[in-house]
Amino acid sequence: MHGVHGDEPPRDIGQFREFASTLQITELEGILDGHDILSEEVAYYPFPSNRRRYYENLDRFPDGLIVVGDAIASYNPIYGQGMSVAALHALVLHHTLAENGLGDLALQFFDKAESVINTAWLMAVGADFQFAQTTGPKPRGTGLMGRYLSRLTRKAHTDRKLAERLFRVIMMEKPPTSLFRPGVMWRVLKPPHHSHIQTHE
Ligand SMILES: Cc1cc2nc3c(=O)[nH]c(=O)nc-3n(C[C@H](O)[C@H](O)[C@H](O)COP(=O)(O)OP(=O)(O)OC[C@H]3O[C@@H](n4cnc5c(N)ncnc54)[C@H](O)[C@@H]3O)c2cc1C
Repeated sequence: MHGVHGDEPPRDIGQFREFASTLQITELEGILDGHDILSEEVAYYPFPSNRRRYYENLDRFPDGLIVVGDAIASYNPIYGQGMSVAALHALVLHHTLAENGLGDLALQFFDKAESVINTAWLMAVGADFQFAQTTGPKPRGTGLMGRYLSRLTRKAHTDRKLAERLFRVIMMEKPPTSLFRPGVMWRVLKPPHHSHIQTHE
């Protein structure tokens, strides 16, 4: 379980169960009730903020050094992107080496790695800006993207196709632009099923 802006799950196992019972979904409480607890200890991973360093803005960098993964940018782990970004960075490094060799490797790499980071950053930071208490520079398009993604996520609870689309983007197999294809947008924006209009003749 996770929480933000002070609404954190307790580290005491009893209170942890109670916290689960306050959630709008019952599945986690059910899992906790239906299984033996093997350890009283609740593992706790505080994460103070998303953080990004703009190495791509540098115009010189020491030879023989490179910065990848979380050391460039780290994202709220709840969105599960950091390992995907690190793996994609490895791929970008491979292509940069294959195309340019060692000349200016770091600067070439930072330029190419930027788009991978932008994608994860917009998703993570955009989602965190759903909370009014979130502070910091807002990437462009955050408000609209956040509202759209919230609606998409809500609809994905009951729409398997949307859920699959969303997961492929979260797992960084597909770009976020794939969520703005007409077929997907229609599923997100169409009115809910239960709003039948009754006609009387
Ligand atoms: C609670 C939590 C859950 C997460 N869940 C997910 C998830 O579901 N999916 C996902 O994709 N990502 C997830 N992430 C993010 C993911 O773990 C990181 O983005 C990823 O591990 C970054 O890889 P990295 O190699 O850049 O850094 P790291 O994995 O942090 O590796 C850096 C390594 O450098 C070592 N090191 C540090 N300083 C020194 C030093 N001075 N000398 C030598 N070694 C040093 C560290 O010990 C560490 O082993 C999660 C993160 C957290 C905190």
